[in-house]
Amino acid sequence: MANNKDNHGRHGGIDSCSFCGRSAADVGMLFTGMNGATICDECIERGYDVLQEQNTKQGKGSKSQPVLKKSDLMKPQEIKDFLDRYVIGQDAAKKSLAVAVYNHYKRLLAADAKKTAKKATPNSEAAVVDDVEIEKSNIIMVGETGTGKTLLARTIARLLKVPFTIVDATVLTEAGYVGEDVESILSRLLQVADYNVEQAERGIVFIDEVDKIARKSDNPSITRDVSGEGVQQALLKILEGTTVNVPPQGGRKHPEQKFVQVNTSNILFICGGAFDGIEKKISQRLNTRVVGYNQGAAQHLDKKNLMQYITPQDLRSFGLIPELVGRVPVLTYLQPLDKTILRQILTEPKNSIIRQYVKLFELDGVKIHFEDEVLDYIVDKAVEFKLGARGLRSICEAIVTDAMFELPSAGVKEFTVTVDYARPRVDKMQVQ
Ligand code: ADP
Repeated sequence: MANNKDNHGRHGGIDSCSFCGRSAADVGMLFTGMNGATICDECIERGYDVLQEQNTKQGKGSKSQPVLKKSDLMKPQEIKDFLDRYVIGQDAAKKSLAVAVYNHYKRLLAADAKKTAKKATPNSEAAVVDDVEIEKSNIIMVGETGTGKTLLARTIARLLKVPFTIVDATVLTEAGYVGEDVESILSRLLQVADYNVEQAERGIVFIDEVDKIARKSDNPSITRDVSGEGVQQALLKILEGTTVNVPPQGGRKHPEQKFVQVNTSNILFICGGAFDGIEKKISQRLNTRVVGYNQGAAQHLDKKNLMQYITPQDLRSFGLIPELVGRVPVLTYLQPLDKTILRQILTEPKNSIIRQYVKLFELDGVKIHFEDEVLDYIVDKAVEFKLGARGLRSICEAIVTDAMFELPSAGVKEFTVTVDYARPRVDKMQVQ
């Protein structure tokens, strides 16, 4: 059916496209239909674009996603139980997340029920199911780096029946500057929803490193704060719930680009950040010092973990604008990881680092065993290097790399990692 330039299609005796009228010589390819009508390659492409655009506008993705059902509604306790399998400790954050996700689902189901009732009885009183509007509760999680914020977000994503994406706030800048427009956050969500706008509008976005867009100085007029307050203002609108023009491919908006309109009213936002130094703000507010003598009410404070006393006011002192703080009403924290927790992280989660190594060696037919003392040693080193849970993996890597290289060809069936084996390898790491 396809003709090239030398093999022209015919329509009314003319070798040209029946749609645009250009002659076969001016187009790449001319296709001939049964009744002699012809269409050129460019008209096909244009038609395809129009169809795609129409589908996106109507919320039809190329693949439709499952609709949320009541049976999908996991209770907060069930959600937390699931998180417990992968994330050690951090109960406060787990509970807040579980409740937020549960409420998000309930809101979506309530909105669906309202829509259905309206359709069924458009003119009756019953159409107004009830007028209690459940507001969304965006969340903010504060905790040192490496304490499990991203891990929590990733883990919860496994059980979600709505589109979910993780974006990094550090790449965002005010419109007109190098970096990405804030709307690009939604491009990612659209992508994971397979460009199904209706699905994307019910999704969840985890915005990581939100502390990096805090105002750098108390006086906003001193210097241009390209990546600070302006970005917060832009983010605010999206968090509040508005209709946003989203560049489907992300990045920076430009005039010739086609946009997809996304309404953010039902999108749940989870923000995360380390907020380095916020403990100082907390302690200032509590009128106590991290290290010092107890006074009055401060006597009962757990000074080693001030994060648990965090309030929205502290986020404001850190440099988030009050309007933004108001838009993330659920504030939760992650505890710094102590030795006991680090030790648990090493061995307990379903896919803990040690279990991963055991599995890796098992695939080579080698049974690897880590002595208890070496696990304690790894934890001590992670604390010493101040790398938190992130350090556990790099230390383990340094210890087992030689074994991973040698054992597959050595025909060894069992291997025990001892402190004596580990120490020189970790020492070498410190020299590097
Ligand atoms: P954050 O986002 O807070 O900076 P991550 O979630 O990326 O930290 O944590 C880094 C790594 O440390 C994770 O991949 C995980 O292996 C480990 N980790 C951190 N906290 C925990 C925890 N509470 N339970 C289990 N593993 C953890």
